[in-house]
Amino acid sequence: MTVVTMDDPFLETLKDIYYAEKHIVKALPAMVKKAGDGQLKDALETDREETEGQIERLEEVFKLIYTPARGKKCDAIEGILAEAKKHADIKNNAVGSAQAVGHYEITRYGTLIAWANQLGKHDAARLLEENLTEEKHANELLTKIAESSANRKAAA
Ligand code: FE
Ligand code: FE
Repeated sequence: MTVVTMDDPFLETLKDIYYAEKHIVKALPAMVKKAGDGQLKDALETDREETEGQIERLEEVFKLIYTPARGKKCDAIEGILAEAKKHADIKNNAVGSAQAVGHYEITRYGTLIAWANQLGKHDAARLLEENLTEEKHANELLTKIAESSANRKAAA
């Protein structure tokens, strides 16, 4: 009989977001380079810097559960990043792509925080909360950029 505990999905999902963040940090410099708009460029550059810190926090979470930090292939983020690459030349799509990446991260962190709290891993939950807060803030900024560029087009 296999004993299924919630630790398994927690660890699997932690590996998933760790893999995702590491891929995002590698993909962002090209996205920054392609972002013509000053606001979008700044937002993505901030995102890149924050992602480095997010990876470090995830490594802390692995430490808290006495598990080596290792990612597990996430097909979802690979697909989203592949689309982002394809759409990078069209600015509104670049904003949309960055938001698609962010939303994937937000869902992952939301789930992980809920599980960490259920498992009594409150220190881990706090670290994950910090990442989630950054992701949400980045997403709000991108929404503002999307709205202002849509308004500019409507006014033109
Ligand atoms: Fe992130
Ligand atoms: Fe995934």
